Amino acid sequence: MADVTVVGAGPNGLAAAVVMARAGLSVQVREAADTIGGGSRTKELIEPGHLHDVCSAVHPMALASPFFRDFELARRVRLIVPELSYANPLSGGRAALAWHSLERTAEGLGRDGAAYRALMEPLAEHSEAITDLLMGSLLQSPPSALRHPAAALRLGLAVLEQGSPAWNLRFRGEEAPALLTGVAAHPVGRLPSLSSAGAGTMLSLLAHTVGWPVPEGGSQAIIEAMADDVRAHGGDILTSSPVTSLDEVRGSRAVFLDTAPAGLLALASDRLPARYRRSLEQFRYGNGACKVDFILSEPVPWSHPDVARAGTVHLGGSRAETARAERQVADGFHPDVPYVLTSQPTAFDAGRAPQGRHILWAYCHVPAGSDIDMTATITRRIEDFAPGFRDTVIASRATTAAGLERYNANYVGGDFGAGAVSLLQMLRRPVVSPSPWRTPLDGVYLCSSSTPPGPGVHGMGGYHAAQISLQRDFGLPVPSLAA
Ligand SMILES: Cc1cc2nc3c(=O)[nH]c(=O)nc-3n(C[C@H](O)[C@H](O)[C@H](O)COP(=O)(O)OP(=O)(O)OC[C@H]3O[C@@H](n4cnc5c(N)ncnc54)[C@H](O)[C@@H]3O)c2cc1C
Repeated sequence: MADVTVVGAGPNGLAAAVVMARAGLSVQVREAADTIGGGSRTKELIEPGHLHDVCSAVHPMALASPFFRDFELARRVRLIVPELSYANPLSGGRAALAWHSLERTAEGLGRDGAAYRALMEPLAEHSEAITDLLMGSLLQSPPSALRHPAAALRLGLAVLEQGSPAWNLRFRGEEAPALLTGVAAHPVGRLPSLSSAGAGTMLSLLAHTVGWPVPEGGSQAIIEAMADDVRAHGGDILTSSPVTSLDEVRGSRAVFLDTAPAGLLALASDRLPARYRRSLEQFRYGNGACKVDFILSEPVPWSHPDVARAGTVHLGGSRAETARAERQVADGFHPDVPYVLTSQPTAFDAGRAPQGRHILWAYCHVPAGSDIDMTATITRRIEDFAPGFRDTVIASRATTAAGLERYNANYVGGDFGAGAVSLLQMLRRPVVSPSPWRTPLDGVYLCSSSTPPGPGVHGMGGYHAAQISLQRDFGLPVPSLAA
């Protein structure tokens, strides 16, 4: 039996595997599905030669993450950073645009440009410290806020403002608030809220610092770089190899579970102390998503021509419209006019589709467990900002929220965050602890996005858990991860 077993080959599981293999330990990764990658797979979903990102597509967090920085991801994978990070089309052919350059973004926001710059500039001055704050646990000891007091203050003020009913006070027009809301709505939930403002502030900041990259060839490229590194350091990766009980991996001195708390309960419920088990049972999953992949005959015919230059397009319309759509989902309804996220990778990475073809990645939020195919609703919403879109569609394929759970057990009810993103659940993810990656079982760690820092392809859950295990279980230093 290997020194270390990693259950699940998502970004967090593989991050743990990279660190442990580089420390000189024998590592075995066991993945339930027939390919590795979890939420970071790229597949020919509809027709040969068309490479769709099944889940994640755009990777600001991979560029900002301390794990991927130490791993030198940018030297291993070509990360294409669009000049226009994201766009938010509005009625009447208008659009709010978040350029990589903060200056250019502010210029484009007219009378709200100065207010937007005044919100973002102080954050940009502390961007590394803010990333450090948000990529750990809020309860870590010593608290990272003490290490970066100025950054914590700036971040706190921005989050309090954009996460409260005061969120419109500094703005007069529609564009700047829409631009911020399109990002704050990434975690499914009511708007405004402190948790959505926290995620939104970080992602908006990254748009103007590292950018919002798409990996050449698709998100799978990130996974393959990690898997190559694990194998190069002697690790072994098995697919179609679900772990159904912790007894199967009893011989390993450290076990990393890239699973939701529901997965840990299924693997070891009878061995967990009652109090910890109750915390896992009380862990809340959020609402879900319906994902639709399209093959197109030409690029999306956006009314505003610059939108074609954006890696990501948020189709929520105005701030009020996006908040209304999110409120409907929170109340258990499928919105008629949803907030839709799209990414248009073939605009930057032509190799994702045969010549003359394009692909589009899209999803909208839906109530947990929904089995409703939202293709028609999403198509209508894209048409609102790109009349004629319907005529460019050659084929499409939907994955409902229930389908997402069938695809990946971590997405309970289609919740792609593997746990609701609320203020409470950022503190209790999945337990209130300065070291929430540790479980009460010796040498067993939870490292998925159900632990801090939460959802996204950043590998930090795995990195935190591996660092603790190296020290506690093996008395080894953290190895260099450099390419
Ligand atoms: C539609 C959609 C769009 C998204 N877009 C983005 C985006 O653009 N950018 C971004 O950063 N993030 C995005 N995300 C979120 C991102 O994909 C996840 O937060 C991330 O993949 C979480 O990584 P993880 O390693 O914690 O878990 P996962 O990626 O979910 O991987 C867990 C793995 O563990 C395996 N597993 C679970 N239980 C077992 C078991 N018992 N035995 C063996 N294997 C097991 C699963 O099969 C899976 O492969 C998106 C997600 C979805 C669904």
